[in-house]
Amino acid sequence: MLRLAEKMSRLGTETAFDVLARAEILAQEGRDIINLGIGQPDFKTPGHIVEAAIKALHDGHHGYTPSPGIPQLRESVAQDLATYRGVNVAPDRIVIVPGGKVTMFFAILMFGEPGAEILYPNPGFPIYQSVIEFTGARAVPVRLLEENDFSLDADTILSQITENTRLLILNSPANPTGGAASKSEMDRLVSGLTDMHPQVAVLSDEIYSRITYDDREHISLLSYPELDDRLILLDGWSKTYAMTGWRMGYAVWPEALVEGATRLAVNCHSCVNSAAQHAGIAALEGPQDAVDGMVSAFDRRRRLIVKGLNNLPGIRCCIPAGAFYAFPNITETGLTARNLQDRLLEEAGVATVAGTSFGAMGEGYIRFSYANSIENIEQALSRVEDLLELT
Ligand code: PLP
Repeated sequence: MLRLAEKMSRLGTETAFDVLARAEILAQEGRDIINLGIGQPDFKTPGHIVEAAIKALHDGHHGYTPSPGIPQLRESVAQDLATYRGVNVAPDRIVIVPGGKVTMFFAILMFGEPGAEILYPNPGFPIYQSVIEFTGARAVPVRLLEENDFSLDADTILSQITENTRLLILNSPANPTGGAASKSEMDRLVSGLTDMHPQVAVLSDEIYSRITYDDREHISLLSYPELDDRLILLDGWSKTYAMTGWRMGYAVWPEALVEGATRLAVNCHSCVNSAAQHAGIAALEGPQDAVDGMVSAFDRRRRLIVKGLNNLPGIRCCIPAGAFYAFPNITETGLTARNLQDRLLEEAGVATVAGTSFGAMGEGYIRFSYANSIENIEQALSRVEDLLELT
């Protein structure tokens, strides 16, 4: 009999992948499935980025690279942070990783252990809670409320910090809610952390930083120099450049943690795929019109889906400020989130993800990804309507 480490029983998962797998099986059986479950852009990676990877392969970039990333890429990231966040960061604080998730894993491993508490958003990206529990730390949910448009509330967070809190995880714009933090709440949070909680590190997951709407400025925690010695910034290429399958992410680490992050990288993946890193340079340094085009398309779909959802019986939906998810309240349908998710997939052929896949506080909600065409979104809304009218 194999004896697995006990912590393996505490590792959770991301059920969006289960929904995707089930949707694919149904599609292979000939069912017409509209996929509003998946958390990735429906666009292809822009051509000049693909070309840069091909060129890198032809040019012979086939070997290991330095573990934290090739120097030119770390410099490009620093330049990008100056352009989009108005902050000067030394390239040697930047660590390139195979996807945003890896920064999350490393940061939580660094701070999580039995006796430690880690605060995380709920409903939120499910991997936070999963990895926190894996480390033996206590996962402390910070509830995000529909009545606040799911944006963060500084007082709620500060009131949950104890002497055992080691790490606070924030995500803005957020998955699955589309909520984004306001400047005033961020200011209040940062001043509370500075005045009262100097021992708490912060992981700011800003993977949707470029996907915001209505001219809303992305508020980055990196723009608060008082957090420099304890802020881990997570971002990457997956969402901004439609590069989820390339596995490219980066983090800015506090100076004192760069060595630990690099050592984790050496122990884990050695370095990121060399050609992908060259593509990453082309993404950051090349034209940004494809990004603007994708965000404009998401915006049109956002308006359509939110309006459509609000017209459905038993459903109400606040307007997401960023990312590409709508997170409507479904309590008045009388169905649980899981029940509605399953019925939408099996009976209506619409893949969505139950709010409970994002934590217990997601009960009563369903996540619709609007990274799909206008035609498919319209069709999906009409199928949801038909199903709800039958219920
Ligand atoms: N953080 C959030 C909030 C996400 O929604 C995702 C992906 O869905 C990630 C991180 C992971 O990004 P990546 O695919 O680059 O690992």
